[in-house]
Parts: sequence; C-alpha cells; structure tokens
Amino acid sequence: MSDDPSSQPVPASRAIGIYEHYCEHPGCTKWGGWGFPRGKQTIWFCREHRETGRTEAGSN
Ligand SMILES: [Zn+2]
Repeated sequence: MSDDPSSQPVPASRAIGIYEHYCEHPGCTKWGGWGFPRGKQTIWFCREHRETGRTEAGSN
C-alpha cells in the first residue's frame, strides 16, 4: 500500500481523446461507464442513467 501520489501513473486521457466520456444525461456530470451504440456513435451513461442510455440508443 502506498499513498505516495507520485507513484500513481498519470492517465493520458487527453492524448487518447475518446477515453473521456461522461454521462450524457442532462445535468449529470458523472463518469459514463456504460456505452450504447446510437447510429455510428456511442453514447455514454453513468450507472444511474444507463437505463436512459438503453432507451436513447433505441434498442428494441
Ligand atoms: Zn448520469
């Protein structure tokens, strides 16, 4: 166990670009860990709103 922050790897999220995706639910700023295909895109929603994402994706 180490609490030394310098030992933690710095995520290169900016360089990757697509790595950063937050919940697309209006007003929600949580991390979007659940992705749903919508057209050629993927929409991302947090755990709370993943049901919304499923609906938005139009899966039937
Ligand atoms: Zn959300």
